[in-house]
Amino acid sequence: MHLIGLLGGTFNPIHYGHLRMAQELADALKFSEVRFIPSANPPHKTTPEVNAKHRATMVDLAISNNQTFALDTRELERAGASYTIDTLISLREELGNDVALCLIMGSDAFVHLNTWARWQELLNYCHIILVQRPNASKQPKLTDELALLLQDNYTENIADLSEKSAGYIHMQAITPLDISSTGIRNALKNKLSPRYLAPEKVIDYLFKHKLYQ
Ligand code: ATP
Repeated sequence: MHLIGLLGGTFNPIHYGHLRMAQELADALKFSEVRFIPSANPPHKTTPEVNAKHRATMVDLAISNNQTFALDTRELERAGASYTIDTLISLREELGNDVALCLIMGSDAFVHLNTWARWQELLNYCHIILVQRPNASKQPKLTDELALLLQDNYTENIADLSEKSAGYIHMQAITPLDISSTGIRNALKNKLSPRYLAPEKVIDYLFKHKLYQ
C-alpha cells in the first residue's frame, strides 16, 4: 500500500520548519505525495488576520518546485470550522481505502489532540506521524487519555504503516528547526527581516501584499 502524507496547518505563513519536516518525512517514510492542507477557519486558534486565500497562495508558492508536494484546498471550500475529521472523511471518499493516509503532527499539536472534534475517530481514517518540535519540554504533558492512545497504537516499525491504511501512531525523528509562524509574524511587526525563515517567494509575496505588517 502506498503512503500519502497530510500536513494540515494554519500556514500563517508557511516556513522552512513545515517544508523541511515534510521533505524529511517523505524521504524517511517513502510518501508518494505530501498534501499541504491549509485550514480555512482553525477551530483552536484565533481567526488569522491573513485570510485563507493568501495563506494558501503562499503554500502554493513555497511548494511549486517540488513534485512530491501538493496543495489541497478542500478546507477552503467548506464553510464553518475546519475540522480534521471532516477532511479525512472527504479524502477517504476521494482516495478510497487502498492507500495509507499519514497525518503529520508536531508535538505541540498532539498534546491538544483530545480537544479536537471526534478525536477518538481520527485513527479510523489515518495513521498519525508525530514529530518533536524544538522546545518540546516547555509543552504541557500528555493527558492520561492521550498517553493511552499513544501506548495502544504506537509502532516503531515503519513497515507497519503500509500494512494497513490507518490506525498506527509513529514517531519520526527530524532535524529540529526552531522556526514558527508566530516568530515570523513577530519579526515583521518589529520591522525585523524574516528572510531565510521561509522561501524567498513567500517573503516577496507577503511584502507585496503588506501582510503581517
Ligand atoms: P503558529 O506559530 O502561528 O502557531 P506554526 O508555526 O505552529 O504556527 P502551523 O501552521 O500551526 O505552524 O503548523 C502546522 C503543523 O506543522 C503543526 O502540526 C505543527 O506542529 C507543525 N510544525 C510547525 N512548525 C514546525 C517546526 N518548526 N518543526 C516541526 N513541526 C512544525
